Amino acid sequence: MDDGVKPTECLSSAKEPSASSWRPVHPCSWSKSQATIPSVSCRVPPFPDGLVPKPVIDVLVIGAGVAGLQAALAAASPSCRVLLVNKERGKSSSSAYAQGGIAVALGTRADRDAHYADTLKAGRGLCDPRAVRMLVDEGPRRVRELVHLGARFDREGRGFARAHEGAHSRRRILRARGDQIGAELTRTLGRATAHHASIRIRADLCAVDLLITNGRCAGVWAIDRAGRRVILHARAVILATGGLGQVYLRTTNPAVATGDGLAMAYRAGAVIQDIEFVQFHPTALALPGAPSFLLSEAMRGEGAILRNRDGQAFMARYDRRRELAPRDVVALAIRDEMVRTGSDHVWLDITARPRNWIRERFPLIARTCARYGLDIATDPIPVAPAAHFAIGGVRTDVSGMTSLIGLYAVGEVACTGVHGANRLASNSLLEGLVFGVRAGRAAARHAAASRGHRSRHDLCESPAFGQDMGDIGDIRDRIRRLMWNDAGLVRTSDSLTRALKQLDRWRWIQATTPRDRAGTEVKNLHLVATLIARAALRREGSLGTHVRADFPTKGLGWRTHYTMARGDERASPADTLAGAG
Ligand SMILES: Cc1cc2nc3c(=O)[nH]c(=O)nc-3n(C[C@H](O)[C@H](O)[C@H](O)COP(=O)(O)OP(=O)(O)OC[C@H]3O[C@@H](n4cnc5c(N)ncnc54)[C@H](O)[C@@H]3O)c2cc1C
Repeated sequence: MDDGVKPTECLSSAKEPSASSWRPVHPCSWSKSQATIPSVSCRVPPFPDGLVPKPVIDVLVIGAGVAGLQAALAAASPSCRVLLVNKERGKSSSSAYAQGGIAVALGTRADRDAHYADTLKAGRGLCDPRAVRMLVDEGPRRVRELVHLGARFDREGRGFARAHEGAHSRRRILRARGDQIGAELTRTLGRATAHHASIRIRADLCAVDLLITNGRCAGVWAIDRAGRRVILHARAVILATGGLGQVYLRTTNPAVATGDGLAMAYRAGAVIQDIEFVQFHPTALALPGAPSFLLSEAMRGEGAILRNRDGQAFMARYDRRRELAPRDVVALAIRDEMVRTGSDHVWLDITARPRNWIRERFPLIARTCARYGLDIATDPIPVAPAAHFAIGGVRTDVSGMTSLIGLYAVGEVACTGVHGANRLASNSLLEGLVFGVRAGRAAARHAAASRGHRSRHDLCESPAFGQDMGDIGDIRDRIRRLMWNDAGLVRTSDSLTRALKQLDRWRWIQATTPRDRAGTEVKNLHLVATLIARAALRREGSLGTHVRADFPTKGLGWRTHYTMARGDERASPADTLAGAG
């Protein structure tokens, strides 16, 4: 599918032109023949004269969820100026939606070892042990810093309340306001970034593509709300754009989770890893007309029971840990039970708990369900799996460094290897906190070392430009349905091939230069969908969240990490990666 590809253009840093003569001049080195999956266009549209230079950016952070906020704070200092851009104001991030809590071992070394062991076990042998060690060992310090910044975790007696979730061997999940950990963390970190003298924030910019100059990442170009293009030149760029749940029809993710960072990194030539592993949360609301609102795993941790359409508890038939089995096991059990009983949902039943206790422990969930006519103190809740978390992403080392010089990735968009083939519940916020600091510091060091590379002003704006993509809502909907049906919780060679064929018919999308955010997102969804389907087809075995009905066992070579970069797909054994760190 390489027809229709357009030459890649980017701003060259070879010569310092005056602001009024800035134009995209040199094609990047990517050639048409390299672009195998799929052919993608990564162009900076032409800029007219009269551009306005603004102050220099040392570190540009894209995305203001927990990972981006934490990275910005870690990078910023009097000698390192940070610009944090986000495509929306307010609370639209997966971080802000998080309910259950943060998994963290605040006690002894033995507690941390147990967290380490649980994470590796849930990850089905595909985790990078070194990254997991950092996650569990550095996590407590990051959480104490949050408390210092003013985060208020729920307390019990003299200490923090600790909740239980699936596949955790101990109660170690810190929570806030019952089921609103994400709001508390983003409030705390958001306030700290807003008051930081070296951090500037723009919450009206949707990053479209990376600028690559002489093999280095030199910034991004973005679109503002009015459709104007904005060029941001930076010494280091940190992608913190979150997940890709919107690729699927049913998802717990907010509308902003369109895989933008992953698509941008792929188009720029960065290495992508483990993208076939998409975690489907077992229990999202399944009511006609209602969103796939998450019903936190913590509900099962507090005794909620899963029942089939006949009211029977069924988890004991699937796993001895019943409702507290790992997510992949529970999601698959629910799916099998739905197929077996011919139903489109099962029931999540927490009615054994007293009303006041429920209201205090799960206030957000109780309120949201009430909006759809459900009293969770008396009514079982209809639930079904929904796409929840991208385990794979832009491959990074433990400092967030990607395969492109000057480009860092952190949080859900990154693949550090901490989640293996199946993420342990509540490890994601911790990942953002721990690796956010690591990536922020590494990017700041890189920016300091790159001062000599400065070649032009960092920010300029131009009038709107771009192509009409037709009925964007319709295309978006079709991609999401296709992925849900053919590349969802259970896949086969036939279904994935069908998905790829259909995606290929829409390959013209990749040749467009979108004129607005909606077009950018559809282009990214199409690319990310194609990458997921390709990776899923390649892994001929079932492991963790990747379930192939035609290959029910792990298969030979299951410890392989599949990577892809534009024009280059590879397999690398997990052992090698873990050893190399
Ligand atoms: C409903 C729900 C509940 C969850 N509960 C928990 C939990 O209890 N515990 C846990 O550990 N994990 C939980 N998770 C997972 C966890 O919240 C996420 O994985 C994590 O918060 C991701 O953080 P992030 O900073 O990487 O991305 P996000 O928080 O998603 O932030 C990404 C940001 O990037 C911005 N962005 C995206 N693209 C662009 C672009 N092109 N230009 C500019 N900005 C862009 C978005 O607007 C967004 O603000 C939950 C997830 C969901 C959806």
